[in-house]
Amino acid sequence: ANPTGPLLRVEGLTKGFGGVRAVDGVSLTLEAGTITGLIGPNGSGKTTLVNLISGLEMPDGGRVLMGGTDLAGQRPDRIARTGIARTFQAVSLPEGASVLAAVAAARLERDGSIAQAEAHALWALERLGAADLAAKPCAGLPAALRRRVELARALARQPAVLLLDEPAAGLTDGEKAELAGHLRAIAATGTAILVVEHDMGFLLPLAGHVLCLDQGRPLYAGPPEGVRSDPAVVAAYLGE
Ligand code: ADP
Repeated sequence: ANPTGPLLRVEGLTKGFGGVRAVDGVSLTLEAGTITGLIGPNGSGKTTLVNLISGLEMPDGGRVLMGGTDLAGQRPDRIARTGIARTFQAVSLPEGASVLAAVAAARLERDGSIAQAEAHALWALERLGAADLAAKPCAGLPAALRRRVELARALARQPAVLLLDEPAAGLTDGEKAELAGHLRAIAATGTAILVVEHDMGFLLPLAGHVLCLDQGRPLYAGPPEGVRSDPAVVAAYLGE
């Protein structure tokens, strides 16, 4: 493996559901310390692409290269152990647990003891300005804080690659600004972040690179500054 090369390289990834080509020959490179935006209309294949990378769906073809190893088709737990963590559009937390226990659970497999896992959990919560939530039960947390706890669960794993599915959905402008700051700080430590997002006001100032999908195929790949003026992106997505 080339230590200065990309952390994660997706090559020609393809996935069909029946007659629908949900992801149709998508390639993507995630470099350490960068934030990449993944955009496109509903049904364009964004979530399926994240599912393929994280192992929740089995690709029909293509490669997911991490440090020279092809992870395509591997089980989610194996992929997670290579340093890829993700969040979901629909946040799911262990409702009966405290926030600290919920985040620590994400570390238990790797840490020898609960005390160690809780130390990592507290570290992750602190990085997200959420240490004050530690003793609270997950049940009853407002949506924005549930998203933050879910992000803490992913962050506690100290991933090399972080895949986020609509992290700003349902957040106020203030919460979005705070989240953007947290994501910049996480990327600054070397983590590669892929963000699926519909909120261009949130995403475009944050991302260094943007990929737009349409019907599973890449429509635009380039700098965020070029997104709003790209005729194909406007026609398929932004003009809708
Ligand atoms: P996006 O995240 O961009 O909204 P998705 O990846 O969810 O798009 O969906 C891409 C296409 O694949 C859509 O046509 C969707 O209906 C289809 N699709 C996604 N998951 C499944 C599934 N489990 N079974 C059948 N079709 C699916």
